[in-house]
Amino acid sequence: MFDFTCQKNALHERVILVTGAGDGIGRQAALSYAEHGATVILLGKTVAKLEAVYDEITNAGYPQPAIIPLDLKGATRQNYLDMADTIEQQFGRLDGVLHNASILTVLSPFDEIEEDSFDDIMQVNVKAPFIMTQALLPLLRATKNSSVIFTSSGVGRKGRAFWGGYAISKFATEGMMETLADEVSGTNVRVNSINPGATATQMRSRAYPGEDAKTLKTPLEIMPVYLYLMSDDSIETNGQALNAQK
Ligand code: NAP
Repeated sequence: MFDFTCQKNALHERVILVTGAGDGIGRQAALSYAEHGATVILLGKTVAKLEAVYDEITNAGYPQPAIIPLDLKGATRQNYLDMADTIEQQFGRLDGVLHNASILTVLSPFDEIEEDSFDDIMQVNVKAPFIMTQALLPLLRATKNSSVIFTSSGVGRKGRAFWGGYAISKFATEGMMETLADEVSGTNVRVNSINPGATATQMRSRAYPGEDAKTLKTPLEIMPVYLYLMSDDSIETNGQALNAQK
């Protein structure tokens, strides 16, 4: 496991946007960031799931979060620009973005990948975080230190048979991270990626239906690297492809 212990109030007064915050790893990251003092903006597709996370955060006494319901599949550049305006008006700042939401669709041989499915994966996993980051960069540049985290995968670092469009999207994600990280090098913005590794979530159980989820790490167990990259301990870390699990 990535070795890092986060100070209790490390994210005090930070505003952090988490995509796919209603379920799985994104839900846990939102809870963990809030637990460490952050005001978390919960972005996702299914409002009921976001509301449940909102309630968990407020019931725990953490800073009051906000909800942005948005389907990354249909979202437009204007949606992201409006979102940036809303964040600026409501919070006056943005200190971090965790690009976590992704889709897997079906695993299949390369020559059977359907074009529509490939387009959907590239839209949600690559183009949405690309345009969202463009829209949010002015806010990220305006704060003292900010952190952008992209979510990769083992198959985004070494291709694997039948992981087709998803693997290709994760290689693109790593390329986006490296390209932007190089551009912002030496500025107040840092950009890195995380490969969560096998983690007990719905996405994992869809990919490996026969697997016993109890043999996997939980989202809570992989949080150290997510906290590290949002905390000031990682201010000098830029352009790194990190692993949540060793
Ligand atoms: P998950 O349980 O399927 O959760 C994905 C989240 O993304 C959900 O909250 C989902 O919202 C949201 N989402 C999906 N499509 C969306 C859309 N069009 N618009 C807005 N939100 C959308 O997945 P996970 O396992 O936590 O995965 C989180 C990240 O880790 C992903 O980037 C994944 O590729 C990566 N990853 C996971 C593993 C693993 O073993 N779990 C391994 C390697 C990489 P709804 O629930 O509302 O659909």
